[in-house]
Amino acid sequence: AKREGKDGFRFFSAELGAEIRRRAALEADVRAGLEGRQFLLHYQPVFDMQGRLAGMEALMRWQHPHRGMVPPIEFIPLAESTGLIVELGLAALRCVREDLRAWEAAGLRPPRVALNLASTQFRRESQRRRFLEALDELGLTPDRVEFELTETAVFEDIGSPDSVLEALRARGYALAIDDFGTGYSSLSYLRRLRCGKLKIDKSFVRDICQSRVAALLVRSIIDVAHALHMRVVAEGVEQEAEREKLRTLGCDLLQGYLLARPMPCEAMARLLQEHRRV
Ligand code: C2E
Ligand code: CA
Ligand code: CA
Ligand code: CA
Repeated sequence: AKREGKDGFRFFSAELGAEIRRRAALEADVRAGLEGRQFLLHYQPVFDMQGRLAGMEALMRWQHPHRGMVPPIEFIPLAESTGLIVELGLAALRCVREDLRAWEAAGLRPPRVALNLASTQFRRESQRRRFLEALDELGLTPDRVEFELTETAVFEDIGSPDSVLEALRARGYALAIDDFGTGYSSLSYLRRLRCGKLKIDKSFVRDICQSRVAALLVRSIIDVAHALHMRVVAEGVEQEAEREKLRTLGCDLLQGYLLARPMPCEAMARLLQEHRRV
């Protein structure tokens, strides 16, 4: 047993060594990507129950010189643990400002763009200040952008003496709770979160047609949210049956592959053209 343990340890440390090298290489790659402006945003529209365009979410992509379009799951977690998320967050602001400019220059009137925030972007007072200053400098006013944070991030922020959410709220930005239902949330906490919008995680949406319990849970979330004057967005709507179910449950807004996939700025321009608002 002793030997096994030793070998086990040797195996483990070899694996660990490889993992550490892989992470270090990826970190260097993300840094180079920031330098080379390889990060961009795709946009996924959000629709109301009548099929009108009601918003859009900005989702980061990495246009990697060798690997092609890299999804966020492959670099956001690492960026969060290394602090590079701070720079990525600022890069997202610059990117959204350029894309808004392009749409506005084409005579389009985009709805507000929702940006995802990680609590790890705001660990230091200087980081919060830089972010708020960037919003001002780039002209990203509350009529142009809004923000999404997970429940966990909102909770961490609520307790902090210089809360970034309070600062954003004070400036008039709309806020949404992301991935609702995946954290340790309790419906009774919703009141304290004071956000205008709640996004039900796609893991719930997936089950509403099969499971009566899941449907009941989603209905309860929607009812409580409505009582608190929040609008409810269902994420990850992939099937017509899910859309119909969500309609009967009283959901306000839909987002998912059934309606539209995330798309680059130019494709979003075409969609904005089709959904021209008067
Ligand atoms: P999220 O904020 O929950 O974003 C929704 C994710 O669901 C996106 O994945 C989107 O492409 C995907 N999605 C949309 N509709 C459907 C559907 O019908 N079915 C399925 N299966 N998936 C759908 P994506 O773009 O890969 O982003 C993953 C996560 O990465 C995001 O989850 C968010 O947490 C994070 N992320 C993306 N962009 C940023 C960013 O700029 N900053 C930060 N901090 N995080 C970001
Ligand atoms: Ca989101
Ligand atoms: Ca989400
Ligand atoms: Ca998520």
